Amino acid sequence: MDKVGELPDRFLTDEQRMMRETCRRYVDRVVKPFIAANREREWFVDPAERTPPEILEEADAAGLRTLGVPAEYGGVDLDPATEAQTFAIIATELSRGDTGLTIKLAQGWKISIILRELAPKHLQDEWFGRFMADPHLLMAHCLTEQRGASDRWLPYNVPEAAMETKAVHEDGHWRINGRKQFISNGYDATLYVVYANTDPSVGMLDGTSSFLVPRDTPGLEVTRCNETLGGRYENNGEITFTDCRVPDDHLLAEGRALTLARNYFRPGKITVAAGALGVGIAAFEDTARFVQERVVGGRLLIKHQAVAGRLADMATKLEAVSALLRRAAVAVDNDDPDTNTLCFMVKVFSANSIVDVCHQAVELHGGYGAMMEVGIEKYYRDALLYLHTDSTTDIANFKIVKDLFPQTAGAYAGPE
Ligand SMILES: Cc1cc2nc3c(=O)[nH]c(=O)nc-3n(C[C@H](O)[C@H](O)[C@H](O)COP(=O)(O)OP(=O)(O)OC[C@H]3O[C@@H](n4cnc5c(N)ncnc54)[C@H](O)[C@@H]3O)c2cc1C
Repeated sequence: MDKVGELPDRFLTDEQRMMRETCRRYVDRVVKPFIAANREREWFVDPAERTPPEILEEADAAGLRTLGVPAEYGGVDLDPATEAQTFAIIATELSRGDTGLTIKLAQGWKISIILRELAPKHLQDEWFGRFMADPHLLMAHCLTEQRGASDRWLPYNVPEAAMETKAVHEDGHWRINGRKQFISNGYDATLYVVYANTDPSVGMLDGTSSFLVPRDTPGLEVTRCNETLGGRYENNGEITFTDCRVPDDHLLAEGRALTLARNYFRPGKITVAAGALGVGIAAFEDTARFVQERVVGGRLLIKHQAVAGRLADMATKLEAVSALLRRAAVAVDNDDPDTNTLCFMVKVFSANSIVDVCHQAVELHGGYGAMMEVGIEKYYRDALLYLHTDSTTDIANFKIVKDLFPQTAGAYAGPE
């Protein structure tokens, strides 16, 4: 069998084979050795210094940072016919090395696509220019607020459920007030895409607008770095906006920004599911090695039937996630009618399955599974993060049922 949990080469296009090979080389040469040699770093080094500059510089040199930046600016244009599938392949491979890094880079992919589709030419010139010139420049996508983000996913399209962050138009500017939390790259981004209510009289789907807000805009303050359970090489942060004024041309989408963002970055859930899959593959590979080296009870662990059963279960789950991921990614690329349902399905299935896979990995390592210097506990922590990224599993399940049974389940989560 080919590598467990990864699509065989024969299923890939030339572009995908090349991207996976490039990414695998980067992960095996740069990321994995760094993580293995610095097990305590994610806990004891200040967030601002935690990721050494060469990690991003090497990602940049390999072309992994600038996916979505148009080729005219020097970025990597993926074949649109297979774009979501390629994002899945790259995110899986990156996450074998470190999932915080995947989240860090994926924000850049997402915002590059939003910039490309929605920003005026002169702002694309400015921001793609700066993004290409500085391999450390990060971007963040700010939706979540203190009041439950689940309302946004369902969504309750009524004025009472509108975002608390507000933007008011005055004198050629938009004045933004509010607070965003749990934002990937929120602590160290240079450019933020911020969603705010601009029409309190209508529901969230019609009254939410999006803005480009550079970090140095007066009134924008990064108020904290969230120290998280896993994904600790991505600095999750909180940002407040106090009479933060951006010029008119920084408005990206007025009113229907949530719908547009989903259309323009449809591979979002694919990338999230793929990130989880990569963690599971890494946990499986380390565990397969361990049980074929460690002798207990006079024989290799793998020769104990209960151990073999657990290993088989891990491998089967990885293959199942990989198959559903491919099915969902193809649906995104083809714009199939069942795309939305499949994206939520793969998000939930991958998060739950990979937590199980990592749980088995911890179990099969015995006491080593809990030791920081071995690294298995990190996979488990990283996997847990995916339960809450891009909607919770319960909300995603509810979305699946709403899609499958719109006449009945559709009705009681608010009008759509
Ligand atoms: C690592 C990480 C990175 C993130 N990155 C970003 C980012 O870059 N940008 C961004 O905008 N956000 C980001 N988020 C936020 C994420 O999208 C939200 O945390 C997630 O959608 C859940 O929202 P919440 O935390 O407000 O939970 P809540 O909405 O408060 O939910 C709490 C609990 O209530 C349940 N619940 C809520 N409503 C219902 C209902 N109607 N019926 C049944 N159960 C319900 C939920 O399932 C959950 O169990 C990130 C989160 C994490 C953990």
